[in-house]
Amino acid sequence: MMEKKDFKTYRQETKEMIYDNHLALCKGCGLCIEYCPVKCIKFHETNRGHFGSPAINADLDICTKCRMCERICPDGAIHIKIKELKEKK
Ligand code: SF4
Ligand code: SF4
Repeated sequence: MMEKKDFKTYRQETKEMIYDNHLALCKGCGLCIEYCPVKCIKFHETNRGHFGSPAINADLDICTKCRMCERICPDGAIHIKIKELKEKK
């Protein structure tokens, strides 16, 4: 019997954004790491992606929300949601 892998989505969240790395899709190619203009993505220490290679971890304190990583990922493994902030009156 084939072993069933239980992939999850690694979600990071701040007041301003949600940053999802879909582990079933991430193959650990490192393109997002290479293309992030502020170099705030690293390989994750423990999360593993589709081929058992390291998945990713973004430092959202540094992230500028440019969405380059989301666009460059060949496997659609990153999904970013920018939250609409309510204006203070
Ligand atoms: S998120 Fe996409 S670009 Fe980044 S390592 Fe995974 S597969 Fe590659
Ligand atoms: S949104 Fe831009 S700054 Fe943030 S992790 Fe992705 S590439 Fe880097």
